[in-house]
Amino acid sequence: MAQQFDYIVLGAGSGGIASANRAAMRGAKVLLIEAQHLGGTCVNVGCVPKKVMWFGAQVAEAMNLYGPDYGFDVTVNKFDWGKLVQSREAYIERIHGGYNRGLDSNGVTLVKGFGKFVDSKTVEVNGEHYTADNILIAVGGRPTIPAIPGAEHGIDSNGFFALTEQPKRVAVIGAGYIAVELAGVLHSLGSETHLLVRKHAPLRNFDPMVTETLVELMEQEGPTLHTHSIPKEVVKEADGSLTLHLENGNSLNVDTLIWAIGREPATDKINIEAAGVKVNERGFIPVDAYQNTNVPGIYTVGDIMEGGIELTPVAVKAGRALSERLFGGQPEAKMDYDLVPTVVFSHPAIGTLGLTEPQAREQYGDDNVKVYTSSFAAMYTAVTAHRQMTKMKLVCAGPEEKIVGLHGIGFGMDEILQGFAVAVKMGATKADFDATVALHPTSAEEFVTMR
Ligand code: NDP
Repeated sequence: MAQQFDYIVLGAGSGGIASANRAAMRGAKVLLIEAQHLGGTCVNVGCVPKKVMWFGAQVAEAMNLYGPDYGFDVTVNKFDWGKLVQSREAYIERIHGGYNRGLDSNGVTLVKGFGKFVDSKTVEVNGEHYTADNILIAVGGRPTIPAIPGAEHGIDSNGFFALTEQPKRVAVIGAGYIAVELAGVLHSLGSETHLLVRKHAPLRNFDPMVTETLVELMEQEGPTLHTHSIPKEVVKEADGSLTLHLENGNSLNVDTLIWAIGREPATDKINIEAAGVKVNERGFIPVDAYQNTNVPGIYTVGDIMEGGIELTPVAVKAGRALSERLFGGQPEAKMDYDLVPTVVFSHPAIGTLGLTEPQAREQYGDDNVKVYTSSFAAMYTAVTAHRQMTKMKLVCAGPEEKIVGLHGIGFGMDEILQGFAVAVKMGATKADFDATVALHPTSAEEFVTMR
């Protein structure tokens, strides 16, 4: 006999947990199915451990780059990568505990095992059948490995987080968030780091000011950026090192090679065909604005949705909105995918929101777009020999100069963006920014003092 629930959630990542908890808070009988650790990619092999490593890199930069001119004469005996990993994993363990307590207190039933569809209302886990009229697919994604000879000698971002020793010489391949973030962390922590991108720059779809500044800073400070570098083959040498051969004839010998060329949806292992849910040619699931798939009663959120935004808070918000719609008496609740702020934990951090300047010019026409910029050495760095640029940009549209894009790269940008995102989401204009009193001395104040 199948056990009956109101709501089955496949996958206890950020989106799945948020949706399951919210549904249970609204009185639904909820089953959450997860084969691995609670928290999915973000908590276990993504945002959280990455941020811990990034903080580690900040500590290294404070000691090595900035400390001396602030008067500190510090001798670092060693950097213990294993200790940092241990602290990180203990922190993640505490998060798992918090998730377990939250699920318990909301009355969500958690089953550990790999769930697969039997039909559009039934899921099988560990030989048991469970049914529900509402099923959320929130199984997330996994890193892509390229189909080139020797690719298996490299590791992916999961492999990076499994490293218990610091790699000495590393090649990171890819041009997105993950490649930039991992290369930055490794470089700051002292590994000889090479970032290889197949075009002219990493983060090509960000505002050109951001991309160009990131490239300039990498040229000045590292990691070593190799542009127009398309991997052709990886050869494992007798001494265990890896030689990466490129299409352009160059090659690079390293100890560790990390693929960060994108992620693919994990929709291929859950017998999704049995439910009749359509996936596109890349495995992503098309949904409408309410997270409905083509099968009534089956929904999806997070990294597996076609045309979605692969960010934890987006999955969380979409998952909660869905539960409010299904069980919370809010039939119109849905995620608003417009003006989603995002931060790249590069060195220094990048914050971006809304349209890039080229996108705004394309959408509104050159005559209707006005751009304001600011460029300065971040004060924290300006008093040292290691001065580092900050650049900021506001993209405004129409005669009222509505802010349609806000971009920055520089020290503290990760924490600066959130408040401005509220203002822009509310429809702020340049005049609203001008009317706001600056906080001095901060980097953030530049956004309200641009001329
Ligand atoms: P992305 O899709 O962002 O970037 C991968 C990039 O790698 C591509 O855009 C492409 O850039 C390049 N690439 C693709 N194929 C190849 C190839 N065969 N060889 C070399 N380069 C290739 O993927 P990520 O894995 O970095 O990140 C996935 C998502 O996770 C992000 O989009 C982001 O939404 C999310 N994320 C968010 C973070 C945050 O919020 N801070 C942190 C980490 C991830 P090009 O075309 O320029 O070559």
